[in-house]
Amino acid sequence: MKYIDEYRDGDLARSIAARIASEAIASRHYKFMEFCGGHTHAISRYGIADLLPSNVEMVHGPGCPVCVLPIGRIDDAIRLAMRPGVTLCTYADLMRVPASGGANLLKAKAAGADIRMIYSSMDAVLIAEAEPARHVVFFAIGFETTTPSTALSIGLARRKQLTNFSVFCNHVLTPVAIRAILGTANLPNGKNILVDGFIGPAHVSTVIGTAPYVELAAEFTKPVVVAGFEPLDVVQAILILIRQVNEGRSDVENQYIRAVTAEGNLIAQRAIAEIFELRDMFEWRGLGDLPASALRLRAAYAQFDAEQRFEIITAPAADNPACECGDVLRGLKKPAECKLFGTVCSPETPMGSCMVSPEGACAAHWTYGRFRDKAKAGAIRAAA
Ligand code: SF4
Repeated sequence: MKYIDEYRDGDLARSIAARIASEAIASRHYKFMEFCGGHTHAISRYGIADLLPSNVEMVHGPGCPVCVLPIGRIDDAIRLAMRPGVTLCTYADLMRVPASGGANLLKAKAAGADIRMIYSSMDAVLIAEAEPARHVVFFAIGFETTTPSTALSIGLARRKQLTNFSVFCNHVLTPVAIRAILGTANLPNGKNILVDGFIGPAHVSTVIGTAPYVELAAEFTKPVVVAGFEPLDVVQAILILIRQVNEGRSDVENQYIRAVTAEGNLIAQRAIAEIFELRDMFEWRGLGDLPASALRLRAAYAQFDAEQRFEIITAPAADNPACECGDVLRGLKKPAECKLFGTVCSPETPMGSCMVSPEGACAAHWTYGRFRDKAKAGAIRAAA
């Protein structure tokens, strides 16, 4: 298929990988983080790690919105959905994220809560319009990619003068999470990973542009290469990162020039700024409480704020103590290093959020990577 196949050309990918192998300095180790779950998925699906020399390592980052949502917010959503007269609208991959006590939204739906899976935030507005006797809450999550559509939905609800629509807002901000990964302040356990550079997000950057990474790259002297989600995008970004490291540079470069500009989508940014403002603090799974890392509705839109309407106060809730999602989300552990991986934790019986969303590192490794683990183990046994 044109426009996709050309970014999945195996011969070209192998030739770029050969350049990576020839330019990577044999005496040093390179460790790069792909921030985004979309890149994690591409790396697993297309076997990109297998193309890289052994001294070039990719680690997963926190860029999966379902994965970083703390359990307390899922608990809030379940309580909301159980209220009489409330309809909770949400995306499908939130349905099976484990909440406290083994609960999840799917079980709440089975127990009688009116929870509906939707494809677009606009669907929630249309449901509210069609069913005025219900109060429809849109469970909004995501990085800057999905925030504009939530903003437009609230704008539409206001124009339609809907009084039975609100948003439970869980939108979070990418640059703050990158800063948390690079710094050590406030992180659970005080542990952090040392990376040589980042593959910057694709879709997020179509909205915010490359400019927000410039200060981060300079402050922490780490290169950032914004890249698309196709396999050739990713291998080319890795080659650019290798070159930057070798040359002692820490610049922001844009591999994804077909979709991303320096300033981003100004219309989308204005839509976000009109409706949302920064929260003082927000909890991230794996990263802990991060100041100014998430959005809430401005006072002018309070009537559409489910947190104010239903007086939601999120209580802290502990993760399953055996689940290593926190360390996986910070690149400190690989999915297969969690002892629950593939034993009690699988996509059918997820113990943590990273196994639920297709963008989660554990789900990606389950779907693609575990077969390579077995093949490698078999090859080692055969050689012994
Ligand atoms: S394998 Fe399951 S339990 Fe382990 S970190 Fe991943 S999601 Fe959590």
